[in-house]
Order: sequence, then C-alpha cells, then structure tokens
Amino acid sequence: PQPKPKTSPATTAPVIPHQTVYVPVHRTDEVQAARLRLPILAEEQQVMELINEHPIVIVAGETGSGKTTQVPQFLYEAGYAQHKMIGITEPRRVAAIAMSKRVAHEMNLPSSEVSYLIRFEGNVTPATRIKFMTDGVLLKEIETDFLLSKYSVIVLDEAHERSVYTDILVGLLSRIVPLRHKRSNPLKLIIMSATLRVSDFTENTRLFKVPPPLIKVEARQYPVTIHFQKRTPDDYVAEAYRKTLKIHAKLPEGGILIFVTGQQEVNQLVRKLRRAFPYTVQQKEQKEQQDHKQQEELEPEKEFDLKRTIRNMRKSKKKFLNQISLPKINLDDYKLPGDDTEADMHEVADDDSDPEEHDLLEDDHLNELTDTASTKQPLWVLPLYSLLSSEKQQRIFQPVPEGCRLCVVSTNVAETSLTIPHIKYVVDSGRQKTRLYDKLTGVSAFVVTYTSKASADQRTGRAGRISAGHCYRLYSSAVYNDLFADFNQPDIQQKPVDDLMLQMRCMGIDRVVHFPFPSPPDQLQLQAAEHRLAVLGALKPISSGVTTDLPPAVTQLGHVISHFPVSPRFGKMLALSNQQQLLPYTVCLVAALSVQELLIDTGVQRDDDVPSHSSKFHQRNMSWAAGGNYRLLGDPMVLLRAVGAAEYAGTRGNLAEFCEAYGLRPKAINEVRKLRVQLTNEINLNVSDVELCVDPQLKPPSNAQARFLRQILLAGMGDRVARKVPLDEITDKEERRRLKYAYNCADMEQPAFLHATSVLRQMSPDWIVYQEAYELMHGDSNKMFIRGITAIEPEWLLLYVPMLCNIRQVLDDPAPRYDAIKGQIYCYVDATFGKAGWQLPLGEV
Ligand code: ADP
Ligand code: MG
Repeated sequence: PQPKPKTSPATTAPVIPHQTVYVPVHRTDEVQAARLRLPILAEEQQVMELINEHPIVIVAGETGSGKTTQVPQFLYEAGYAQHKMIGITEPRRVAAIAMSKRVAHEMNLPSSEVSYLIRFEGNVTPATRIKFMTDGVLLKEIETDFLLSKYSVIVLDEAHERSVYTDILVGLLSRIVPLRHKRSNPLKLIIMSATLRVSDFTENTRLFKVPPPLIKVEARQYPVTIHFQKRTPDDYVAEAYRKTLKIHAKLPEGGILIFVTGQQEVNQLVRKLRRAFPYTVQQKEQKEQQDHKQQEELEPEKEFDLKRTIRNMRKSKKKFLNQISLPKINLDDYKLPGDDTEADMHEVADDDSDPEEHDLLEDDHLNELTDTASTKQPLWVLPLYSLLSSEKQQRIFQPVPEGCRLCVVSTNVAETSLTIPHIKYVVDSGRQKTRLYDKLTGVSAFVVTYTSKASADQRTGRAGRISAGHCYRLYSSAVYNDLFADFNQPDIQQKPVDDLMLQMRCMGIDRVVHFPFPSPPDQLQLQAAEHRLAVLGALKPISSGVTTDLPPAVTQLGHVISHFPVSPRFGKMLALSNQQQLLPYTVCLVAALSVQELLIDTGVQRDDDVPSHSSKFHQRNMSWAAGGNYRLLGDPMVLLRAVGAAEYAGTRGNLAEFCEAYGLRPKAINEVRKLRVQLTNEINLNVSDVELCVDPQLKPPSNAQARFLRQILLAGMGDRVARKVPLDEITDKEERRRLKYAYNCADMEQPAFLHATSVLRQMSPDWIVYQEAYELMHGDSNKMFIRGITAIEPEWLLLYVPMLCNIRQVLDDPAPRYDAIKGQIYCYVDATFGKAGWQLPLGEV
C-alpha cells in the first residue's frame, strides 16, 4: 500500500479538493496480508487522488479485485467518514449484509460503525460511519432528504447490473452532486462497475456534461478453458449434477461453483449432491434442517410473523463449523492417472455431451458413479442465494474442512456480487431467472431465460481467480452464439414504468420524461403510464383545454398508492381496501394474481373456446365460486378459495395431497404465501398504523365483502371494463352463435371472448372487468380472449372510473326522476365510456 501522511484529524468539514487526513485503522496481520493480495490495493493512491480531485469518478474492475471491500476503507482512512457517513449501495440484499460484515471485520470496527440497512433489517446506529444499503433504501432516503446531507460520499456499487433503482440513483445524483457543490458542502459520487461497459454513464451528456474520469483496476486473471456441450439439455439441473459428479470424480482438487437460476434449484441440487457424497456434519445439519422444516410445516403461522422470523434468524447462529473433526483422506489414493492434463479435460467435456447419456436416469447414473472408489472424497456442498440467512452465506468464506472439496451451488449472486475463494471449476447452466412483465396486465412472472454473453463470461471468469481454471457450459456453442444476447438489457427498459413514474413523481420529479436516465425508457411508454395513472386517480386528471406547462399533480391517493410495493393498479386496490376488513382479501388476491398458473390445467387449452363443463377442474371452479356475490366476484373468488383451502390443508400436513386432488400448483401456493407476508409487512411498516396479521387460512369473505371486492377490482382495473355484445340486436343466427360469449372492451375494436375457464361464462353478465386480455391465432385470423372475470354493476363506473365516463349530457336529460322513497335523484346518463361509447343504464347522481 502507499505510505500515508500522518496528520492530526481535521476539525472542519472537507472542502474540494478533499484534504486528506489520515484516520488510522488497526487491522490484524492476517487481514492485512489478505488485502495486500487484492489488485486494487496497488492502485489506492491513483484511486484516491482521482476521487479527491473530481466530484464524480467511475471505478471499473474485475469481480474480486477488491472494489467493494476496499474502496470504503480507502475513503474512511482519507477522512471521509469523520463528519458525515460513507454510503454504499448494492442492488442485492445479500451483498449489503455480507460486505458490511466483511468490512467491519477487516477494519476491526463494530457493526455499530460499519453497518447495513436493507428493507426489513439493519444494524445502523447513530455511530455508523460506513453504511451499506440496498439501492432502494437510498432512493427512499432521497424522498425525505433530497441533498443526502448525512453523507460525504455515495458509492453506487454494481452499476453494471443496471438495476432500476441504481439507474435512477445515477440520474438523481448527477444533479445532487452539483447542488451540494454549490452549497460548499461537497458530496462525492463513485460509480463502481465489474465491467468496462460504462459508456451509458460516461458518454451520456444529459447525465454528465463532463464525462467523469474512469479508473480501471487491472486484476490478475488466469486463463480459463471453456467447454461447451454438444447438445443443450432442457433439464440443466440434472445435467449440472452429472457434470459435478464427473468433475469431482475425475479432476484434481479445486472448488466447484455451479450456477443455476433460483433458490429451489439450488436447494434441490445441494440435497442431491450431499446425498451422493455424504459428509457426517453436513448430514447432521441436513437433518436439523429437515426437522426444522417439518416443524415449520406444522406451524405455518410462524412463517407469517416476520418479526419473529428475523429474531429467529439472528438467534440461529450455527456453531457446528468450529466443532468438527475430520477423518484424514489421502487424495492421491483417488487420483486417476493423467488427471491434470488438458487433453483429459476435453475428453471429459466431450464424453459428457454424448447424447446417449442424457437418457440415463439420474439415479442409475448416481449408482454407477458412487460404486467407484474415486467418489468417496466428501464434497463440502454449500448453497448460496439472496434469501439465505447471512450466517449461512458467510460459510462460503470459511475454511473448507480438511479433505473436502468445496462445491458452491449458487444463483447469479455469485456472478459479480460475491467472490467465492478457491474456485477452479465453474459449471454454468447458462440460465437465469428474469422477472418478465406482462405488457397487458402488468402482472409479473419469473421465467427462466438464457443469460447474456456478458454474464456467461463473468461466470466463466470466476474459475480463473487462483489458477488456470475450467468452465463447463451446459449449452452448445451454437446456442451461445445464436440465442445469447450480448448484454442483459437494463432493467428499466424491460419493466412497465407505471410504478416508476408514480414513485418519481412522488419524489417531486415533475418531468419524468426529461429525467437523465442512463438509458431512458421509451418516451411513449412514459406518456402512456402518465395517462393510466390519471385514469387510476393517482394523478390529477389532465384537464383538456387548459394548456399548462406542468404535468398533472400527484393526488393524495397517488401518494398512498406509491407506498405499496406493487403496481399502481394493485396499490389502488389495496388503498381502497382499508375498510370493512377487506385488506386480507385484497392482499391475498394481489398475491394470487401476481403468481402465474396457480390453478393447473383447467381442462381446456388457452385457445379453446369450447366450454368443458364436465371437466373436473371446471367443476372445482364452479363450486368454489358458488352463490350470490361469490359467483359475481367470479374468477378471483376461485383464487381466494384456492389459497385459503390449500393453506388450511397445509396446517393439517396434507398440502401436497390437496393440491394434487384439486389441481393446484404447490409451488405457487408457497409463492403466494410469501408475497402475502411481504405485502402485509410492508403495509404494517409503511402504510397503516394498525398491525395487520396474515391469517393463512383466509375464511371466505362475507356476501357483503364479496360485493365490495367486486367494486375494488373495478377501481383497480377501470380501464379493463367490457360490455356484453347485445345479442338481441343481431338477427343473423350464425352471427348470434359466433358472438355468444363476445364482449366489447373499452379500448379494443374487435370483440373479445370470455375464456372457457371462466366461472362466469355460463352466466355471461352484461358488465364485467377482466384481469387479462390476450390475442391468439385462430385459424387464419386472430381472436381476442379475456380472462379473470368479475361481474360489475354499470352504475359503479361513475363512482370508480369517472375519468372514463362522459356525463356531459346529464343536465340535458329530458326525464330526470326522483325516487321519493330513497330520497335519491336518478336520471338517465348518456355516458360514453372509453372509445366504446356505451350508454349506461340508470345512473345514480
Ligand atoms: P469486488 O467488489 O471487486 O468484486 P470484493 O471487494 O467483493 O471485490 O472482494 C475482494 C476479496 O475479498 C475477494 O477475494 C473475496 O473473496 C474476499 N472476501 C469478501 N468477503 C469475504 C469474507 N466474508 N471472508 C473472506 N473473504 C472475503
Ligand atoms: Mg463488488
């Protein structure tokens, strides 16, 4: 490291250029030795000079070069934490926690000084000097303290990931930094990236008039041999398992890192690998986990108490790692001749891609391999994913028990956020989980897609940190070349912008269209979002005629909606549910609607519009939505009942059988449960003062509540109203039959057809709202379908979606009526609705 001048601590706030004072840190020799091996340490002086002299600096360096752990320490030692805090943002919670712990450890400081803050958790104190947080947390802080006056430096880490929040933070900070400078209270901004692809930040003149200087940290990277498969198997988890068995059996020592897409895949693979290479301590722990899980299944309400969960998480410090004693294993006994030759490596790769082999049953294969002596060496298998408790995450950094080979099964958390030591082999599924948003409904779903070439190369790079390594890609080079995009698209260009628009507007950013995004979302999208928000009542209506420069203001409802971590239409439904004990139902509905395919095969193809009333699934749906307002609530009622009933079955330990018998997807039930917990906690924390509890086995709503829920659905889906095509006006018999289930939707020219799975199909009510519309090829032409149907009363439209109603002619109505009994005035309202221009029947004014 560069020698530092020793001076007495500064007593005044730093000015530009920053006057370096040296704040001593007392590190252990061990830590100091580990730091000296990090590439960024050699560049400390250049990095700090650049930071001292420029308000904004970009630091790019290969994963593992020491950016996240060292830059905050450089800043601390240079006095940046003396008067204000050093803030570091991470897109992932995992990284925020792990890095704060590591830095505290390296600096020999307590967690009260080097702390973290994520959405539900944190250990920040008034004494905190270095604060790691998720990017969402900092964005929320800007809402209340626009100048970020508590901070002297903000480090935006992992900017290459292009998370929506980090992107917005870059835009906001590009304005905050000059403002702070003007007030002689400078704020430094450091943008850190694991890739050199930073042109969106440097070459964007709307963002930074003067491109900020870039410093590259040169990291030593050993060569990594890439092995493609001849074929790309669909079951990449099974393939990853097979590949790992082979590597472990045939290849010399060195850790294995496996990339799959999600927590469930990670756990599945970890279980299989532990079973294949038993290791006593791991077995013990596995059993503990199982017992724990069983207990949880017996008492599911436990899961719903987040505070308790967090308390438990903190309590459950695992001690077993310190207590193990291991049998000595002589590795040489198990080495195969010629193990470490390059040629052999390729042979392994090649013979693995033998198409025949894919047909082998996994367990047969397992038996075959565990019969050979070469696989007796225990494998130290560790999972890694974002929701893993931080104690368990830390295990990837702890020493591997003697005689064991390290094997980490991870989601793309290990791609750039966390550097796992001692990895020599990477097994890359080539897949990642992406949140895709339905353009029509805004409902999101997680789907597994191929990663990008950039991600694949990052993953490959993980094998070359300690010595030359190998990367086994579980896909062919043709797939890589043809189907992998060069880079992942920035998140901001993939998501609907309604919630983003509302959140930014609530922060006081009036002209979102002019916001300096690093990569701006589509302008038309932004305008459409503004319009939808106005219809929803989150923004004031755009008054026609009056031309004003300012975009419509955020309404009070809009501010409430912005507090819910869901799309604004769901936010509005939740906001309106704060009455009549409706919140638990709406929470459940929003959760169920956000999870795809809760109900398995409903006995009909999506493009089949022939009803199959006899199917078992249809019977189930009909009986779940039976009776008065339940029937009128329609398909959402089926979802409510499905979730409540499944959870009830779960408390008696037969969730699986129940799901099997009634055609539900058990995984979806679990996802819904998690979402319900998350939403409920969010509401408890941010929105309502009344503590709301999640009752997993939600009782069906009362008849009155079901009626309210219909209104609430209308309030959120006001632009998705449809009216039945009036059949009596059609004389042609054939045409009448064709249009039997046809509806006119507000914004569509073509009629859309009620989906065959809808419980409201037989009844075909006159007025409905739908959750989803989609188009399918039907013979030579397209046909529109709508599903997720709820019946509404047309007079509700005036109350819940006034912006779409045109009540111009009310006053001219020749026949106003007065209902003496109810004391209400009725009149015929000639209301046009959307483009459809429907006439509403009786309106209540
Ligand atoms: P970068 O941000 O450039 O990717 P990091 O600062 O995250 O690099 O990591 C630097 C080094 O610190 C890596 O070699 C990593 O393995 C090591 N490291 C990080 N956290 C821990 C920990 N908890 N225990 C031991 N080593 C760690
Ligand atoms: Mg990092």
